[in-house]
Amino acid sequence: MSTKDYLEKDYYKALGVAKTAKPAEIKTAYRKLARKYHPDSNQGDTKAEERFKEISEAYSVLSDEKRRKEYDEARSLFGGGSFRVPTGTRPGGNGGFNFDLGDIFSGAGDAGSGLGDLFGTVFNRGGNRNTAQNRPRRGADVETETTLSFSDAIDGTTVGLRLTGEGPCPTCRGTGAKAGTTPRICPVCDGTGQSSRNLGTFGISEPCKECHGRGLVVDDPCPACTGSGRAMSSRTIQTRIPAGVSDNQRIKIAGKGAPGERGGPSGDLLVRVHVKPHPVFGRQGDNLTVTVPVTFAELALGAEVKVPAHRGAPVTVRIPPGTGNGSKFRVSGKGVRRKDGTTGSLIVTVEVMVPQNLNGKARSAIEDLREATAGADPRENLLERAKEAL
Ligand SMILES: [Zn+2]
Ligand SMILES: [Zn+2]
Repeated sequence: MSTKDYLEKDYYKALGVAKTAKPAEIKTAYRKLARKYHPDSNQGDTKAEERFKEISEAYSVLSDEKRRKEYDEARSLFGGGSFRVPTGTRPGGNGGFNFDLGDIFSGAGDAGSGLGDLFGTVFNRGGNRNTAQNRPRRGADVETETTLSFSDAIDGTTVGLRLTGEGPCPTCRGTGAKAGTTPRICPVCDGTGQSSRNLGTFGISEPCKECHGRGLVVDDPCPACTGSGRAMSSRTIQTRIPAGVSDNQRIKIAGKGAPGERGGPSGDLLVRVHVKPHPVFGRQGDNLTVTVPVTFAELALGAEVKVPAHRGAPVTVRIPPGTGNGSKFRVSGKGVRRKDGTTGSLIVTVEVMVPQNLNGKARSAIEDLREATAGADPRENLLERAKEAL
């Protein structure tokens, strides 16, 4: 409970008693209302649950002589709820009288020195932790991997990704209570999950030690999660992998990571993609590559060769006479589809296959060729040129 609660909530009104009510009156009023609004007799009624929390909170303060006095003083001092202290930019924060030391001294403490650090040490980082506890928190990013076939990487595909993470316990639906029982409002913090201390002007609050910040305590713990309300679970999500991903590329799928807390957004899912190699095709960015074996005669005399395309019918590549070994030919539109709808090319590399075993006729034909082309020395001046370069 924070100072802000004191200022904003009218506990006397909540219990329907006068400000001058005697402890016995307060007790009677509380018992009557608590019986009426108890969650056990109002299953699923969130309004009743809210009311029950309100009553319990009010009673916990008004039944304690010391706290009732503090409460009365706070309200008479600040005019019963009209007093507000802006606390700057704290999304989802208390927004009231609960100063946050981390904010006040921000800039001074981060480097490990100065006032912020001093206060952090004195208050055991209570101020900072409190802020983090109350803020809506974005869920964590979740990383996973998937392996695609060469073709699926090019064309895009939908994969089922199995994700393991912590979530609400399915047995108790996150309440932590055994089936048929209901968690109780924590009597120490009255369901707020926070315990507060007043230090002069500052109201410091930190997670309640009794309920560890949950605001609820469980008498009969759920056997599956031993009362924590959390469980490791795995889920499978169907994810579209866009066309054209490369091996080792990381794809971000927004909002599919761990769920946020206190209304914060979910984290992202980061998928590391592995692509299996293809026996024939390779990839260079948006282009596909293929190496096509040819004979010396095809390169020397020219030829038309059929080349496989990744999708659709083979394409015919015309090799002009006198083509060098290792020459590349570009076939437009037979590569990887890009995001803008255009498509890369298929790059065909020709590679001479030298026969390993020649029959008599082939052998004599090549011997004839050697004789016929004996005039030109392909290594002419090679040795001299090598020397000049030195
Ligand atoms: Zn459980
Ligand atoms: Zn508590």
